[in-house]
Amino acid sequence: MSELPWLTHKAWATARYGHPVFRVPVDPGWSCPNRDAEGRGGCTFCAEDGGRARQLGEAAGAAQQVHRAVAFARERYAAKHLQLYVQAYTATYADVESLKGLVEPLLDMEPFHSLSLGTRPDCLSNGILELLQDWNRRVEVWVELGVQTTHDATLRRIRRGHDWARSEAAVRRLEACGLRPAAHLIFGLPGESEAEMLESLYRVCQTPVHGLKLHNLHVLRNSPLGGQWLAEPFEVMSDEGYLEFLANALRRIPKHLPLFRVFTDSPPDQRLAPPQTLKKGRFLHLLEKRMRERGWRQGDDV
Ligand code: SF4
Repeated sequence: MSELPWLTHKAWATARYGHPVFRVPVDPGWSCPNRDAEGRGGCTFCAEDGGRARQLGEAAGAAQQVHRAVAFARERYAAKHLQLYVQAYTATYADVESLKGLVEPLLDMEPFHSLSLGTRPDCLSNGILELLQDWNRRVEVWVELGVQTTHDATLRRIRRGHDWARSEAAVRRLEACGLRPAAHLIFGLPGESEAEMLESLYRVCQTPVHGLKLHNLHVLRNSPLGGQWLAEPFEVMSDEGYLEFLANALRRIPKHLPLFRVFTDSPPDQRLAPPQTLKKGRFLHLLEKRMRERGWRQGDDV
């Protein structure tokens, strides 16, 4: 079978570097300004653990997490080239010295190929950017920004605490600093139409992003949205609905942009909606099949 109809990060990295790059997630245990400040209580879709990678388990300190995640990547994927991925909550929600104190010893633990930090567009101070530029001389630095949508009404509804202009400015600023911004979008946020979702995708692709992370909304039990859903269930995009939407949406993404993710598979005991039965591998198989049947590819309708 020939290559997939969309550009996975693995295919992109293999073409660019000659090998795939595997992520080694680490959760510094920091919170985020959207939970701490002004009592906003966080984005409505966000679970209590802020998106912690499951393979981290109960590992305590950052070094132990890295040991565990490296072992996982080597054992499960025979990984050779690794990216240190500081994720969960907001990686740059710390002062410069704390971030430096966390990341630099971790970078010394392994010959990391690159570094990626997950954060919010409003958490990039001048000092943090200078630090990232400093690290960028040592390893390739990526910054994964939670954009979620470009519609300010939705951003207010999900209590995101920033607007689209802030996201757009952050992407351009990171790019101007020689860093590699990537954007995270969620499809199926409450109150958004498919036309609005495609508009978000279009707007983000007009910025100098270097990659995208996409998935559909999952309503999690331990999130504010979960509480709303339990009080009054609302319609959430099904796997099939997302499959059909995504097959079309991928055509609107420039073919050079790698996709870090196009699906999410939350733990069934935490997910309230959609009542998903598809495993990630099955979903990707169906997506590939549908796109092949229709002769569709990423970027063929930009
Ligand atoms: S999604 Fe990110 S910014 Fe929003 S509450 Fe969760 S950790 Fe904070």
